[in-house]
This record gives sequence, C-alpha cells and structure tokens, in this order.
Amino acid sequence: MIQTTALIDGNNFYASCEQSLDPSLIGRPLVILSNNDGCIISRNPEARNLGIKMGKPYFKISSQLRKLKVVVRSSNYALYGDMSQRLMSLLRKHCEQLEIYSIDEAFASFSSSSEQELHQWARNLRILAIQQLGIPIAIGFGTTKVQAKLANFLAKTIPANAGIFNLLTAEDPEYWLKRIAIEDVWGIGNKLAYWCRMKGINNALQLRDMNTQELQSKSGITGTRIQQELRGESCIPLTPKSKPKQETCVSRSFRRPITTLDELLQAMARRVIIASEKLRRQRQLAGAITIFIRTSPFLPSFYSQSASKKLDIPTDDTSILLKETMELTREIFEPYKALIKAGIIMQKLQSKKHIQQHFFINHNSKIQKKRENLTRVIDQLNNRYGHGTVTWAICGSINEWQMGSKDQSNVSTTLINKIPIIKAE
Ligand SMILES: [Mg+2]
Repeated sequence: MIQTTALIDGNNFYASCEQSLDPSLIGRPLVILSNNDGCIISRNPEARNLGIKMGKPYFKISSQLRKLKVVVRSSNYALYGDMSQRLMSLLRKHCEQLEIYSIDEAFASFSSSSEQELHQWARNLRILAIQQLGIPIAIGFGTTKVQAKLANFLAKTIPANAGIFNLLTAEDPEYWLKRIAIEDVWGIGNKLAYWCRMKGINNALQLRDMNTQELQSKSGITGTRIQQELRGESCIPLTPKSKPKQETCVSRSFRRPITTLDELLQAMARRVIIASEKLRRQRQLAGAITIFIRTSPFLPSFYSQSASKKLDIPTDDTSILLKETMELTREIFEPYKALIKAGIIMQKLQSKKHIQQHFFINHNSKIQKKRENLTRVIDQLNNRYGHGTVTWAICGSINEWQMGSKDQSNVSTTLINKIPIIKAE
C-alpha cells in the first residue's frame, strides 16, 4: 500500500460558491469584493483572463469593470461558510484522515495499491464536488504536506494537469520544482523569500538543495522543516483534530469614518455580539477581552488605542461581555478622531466544560440557567431567521456592514425565508 498526503482545495472558492448558487454567472467574468465592498478578494478565470488583479481597491476599477461587463458581488460569508462545511463533510466521507486547513483547503491522507487507483480516487472526488456542490477542486499529492501543497499549486496553475498533480509519480519532479517561485513555497514568508533571492535561491528546487546550516542560521527550525519536507521527510504531521482556539477576534472596517461615541458604542456592540456567538459555537468561555480602534494609517495624524479587561468569571454571556465592552469603549474614546476600524479580541479562552467560579462572588445557578436558556433561544432564532433578527437595542437599526454590501447574493442555503419560491399555476 502506498500512503499519500493530499492537499485538496476549492478553486476560486468565493466566486465558485456564487456560481454554484446562481448558474447564470457561469462563463461570465465575476469578482467578489471584501467587507464593505473594499477590494477584490476572489475572481473566476474569466475575470483573471481580462487582467483583473486580486487586492485591487474597488473604487479604483469600478468603471473599468463596468466597461468589461464584469459581474460584481459583495462578499457573502454566511454562504461561503455553509458551502465550506458541505465541502469538508464530502471530503471526510472519502478520505482516511482529514485536517481542515482553511475555509476551502484540507490536507488528507489516502492509501492506495497503485498510482491508477489514486488517480481514479482523485478524479472521482472532483466529479462529486462538482455534482453535489458545483465547486471545482484541485488535488495535489506528495509524501509530505509541503510536497502536497506544491503539487496542488501545480494542479491548479498548469491547465494540462487538469486539477490533479502527483509530485511522486511525475516524470521529472525536479523540472516541476524549478517552476515554483520561492515566494510560492508554502511557509516561506516575504522576508525569507527576499533573503533567499539575495542568495540566488529563486525556486523550490534550489531551496530543497541549498545548504541546511545556512538556511537554519537565517530561519531557524521553520525553514529547515520546509526543506526537509521538500526532500520528502515528513516533519509536519497531519493533525485531524483541530486544537481549541486560544483567541477569537472580530474586527471590521467602517464604510465611512466615524467620530462620535454613540456610533462607536453601536459598532462595538455589534462586534461583541458576533464574538460571543462565536464563543458559544466553539463551546468556549472568554477569561479576558481586548478592544481596539484606529484611524487610517495613511493619514498623518494616525491614532490607535486599545484597552483590556480580565473577567472575574470566564463567560460566553453576551450581556456580560457587552457591559464590559461598553465601559472599555467609553474609556478609550476620544472625540474628533476619524475612526475607520474597530474590533474585539476574546482572550484566555477555555473550555465550557470546566468553569472556575470566583471565591468572593456569589454564584446563583438558577439565574445562570435562566440566562443560558434565553441566550439559546436568541441564537436559535438568529440561526433560523438570519443574523440580527433578535438583537440588543444598543446596536441601532442600520447594519453598518450591510450598508456597504450593495451586491450581495441571497443566503438561500442558510436562511429559511431566502429559499427561492416557485409558483406553479
Ligand atoms: Mg482556494
């Protein structure tokens, strides 16, 4: 049996999700914008072929997009999250072990008796992903995670590979490694890539064969691990069970700068509500919180401020977290600062299974139970009828993010009232 590591990745994931929901978009150039319609974060091959670059600010190229008849969609994270779950559950059924790496990527292990069997398995998986989800996927094989990641890159970027590439059985693996720029090697950051270039190390093959001691002196264990993995010696194991999170952050930019305390309190309240919902989904409690605000870094009078608070009893209760956050917000607010971003970080996260009570604070389990029941009902209503169906009055009535997402698709996979209605006469 040959044991292989695979990296499976959804192609142009956000754009593919939109096309899956609205097939009329297939074959037309399509771009997806970040929060508040800031910049381009995903595009389909048709848009790429028109020369539209990732990361471009929308306001700079909106007229060009219009001229080129490119379809523009605001990001719809509820849809992408839901499609991601569906993709991962499909993969789980067909892989021996699965490590979810990001919203659209997973490492997997698969053992096969022959190269043909492995290839057939990959082809089958690609067909299932298209049939069941409408999402094209690329699959790369190697003996290690780094090899699998590079093979995936080659599967995706070289059309002749048709979405599947096996670095182990490729006729001339060195030829392929030479084609991967040092910046595209998984785990090599900008600084290390720059250092490599200065040394004349320009591609994955040269990195594999360079002097290990020299690499270690610059990058420590990180670089040498990547090098070992490139050589086929596994040192980054597959970890199917995700580790519990240490921190959870919710931060957003504003559509326009805000300057008043009322607006900031509203914005902060929305972030706390989302962050505490996240905590409850992760079955975790926060032991501390930090909030932060800032103005534009491109303005000369850049201003940023943060404040933290340790909580007496770790909690996931929105009303307690709201109260603490509102106090912190009042503390750090300064008038006349044109704030463009604010966020909250939930820290010292711990499992909900073991709650450490406070010695000096009286604990009333009856009240606690009542509050938990209320929170559960609110979460259920919001899950069923959409985020913000039931919320706290301090949030106000206008959704600052919705305001900036002009062209968002329907959330018909997660919201019952958004399911298309077909009228038969
Ligand atoms: Mg992807």
